[in-house]
Amino acid sequence: MSPHVCEYMESCTHNCYGYEMKITQSICPRCGSSSDNGNLCNTCLVQETEWVTCDPRIILIRCQSCGSIKHQSSWSDELCDREDIEYKSAVSAVHLHADLAFPKIEIQLERNSENRTFAHLKVCGMLYGIPVEKEYTTELLWQSEACDRCRRLHGNYYEGIIQIRAEGRRATYEEEERSREIALLVEQELQESGDRLSFITKIDEGREGLDIVVGSQTLGEQISRTLTKRLGGRYSMHPTLVGEKEGKKLYRDLQKTGIEVLYDDRKGKSAGEKFADCDLIGIPIRLVISEKTLKQNCVELKKRSEKKTKLIKIPNIKRILN
Ligand SMILES: [Zn+2]
Ligand SMILES: [Zn+2]
Repeated sequence: MSPHVCEYMESCTHNCYGYEMKITQSICPRCGSSSDNGNLCNTCLVQETEWVTCDPRIILIRCQSCGSIKHQSSWSDELCDREDIEYKSAVSAVHLHADLAFPKIEIQLERNSENRTFAHLKVCGMLYGIPVEKEYTTELLWQSEACDRCRRLHGNYYEGIIQIRAEGRRATYEEEERSREIALLVEQELQESGDRLSFITKIDEGREGLDIVVGSQTLGEQISRTLTKRLGGRYSMHPTLVGEKEGKKLYRDLQKTGIEVLYDDRKGKSAGEKFADCDLIGIPIRLVISEKTLKQNCVELKKRSEKKTKLIKIPNIKRILN
């Protein structure tokens, strides 16, 4: 109720002594103070509005072998350190109302342990002309997982082999060393460009020459192209690897779809020994591929929790495992 000066003050005839009550005015239905058109006043509106929420916990996943970080479902090589990532994640935990003006978030990180950090957040801003402030604590929990690249690397995953051969003779030591250097450089370039899965699985010095085993077709082609450009010669591509075993192919297919597979291709171990080891490590699902099952385009599947084995069609495996 704002008193106002009577405009007839000088010659006031209605005995108001210069003041007059405003008769028509709107009031806030909640607190009774004045407001526009009978809506909630700003103070009550602020109380009514959930202007900020904060996730209580954020899980951060990093690869323990190479340090890359998982975002949603994809991995990337972050160059920033743990604190940078924690700051960014803490900010992402805060969700602000669109009406909040001049938002500001202050963060203090408190490292609790190797894999746990508490982010103390102070969020403030202006809401409907009123300064607001709230405090939260978000738990940032680090978890380890083997990244797509390391999983493939450890599983000796490959998509191609570049065989360095000279015509009619073995390539010289220098030629092989140059090839190795070039291959590693091309790998580094692709890695730096963000093509994580273009890695060299291994470089073998075979009886006939150097074999560069690569994790992606792109890398294979790029290395071959660079090699012939720098060292001369030519290259040809063989889309299917000669003598490729169905097991290896299946293994690679499954790896690609993100199913974690342990491929037991140890030489000199009997099937029985492999099965025993499989149980020992606690593998949840065992797939066996053999000439017999292949004739039916099948693999034999056995779950650890079940006694029986069953045959399933190869095209159905992914669906069943997912
Ligand atoms: Zn009010
Ligand atoms: Zn990794």
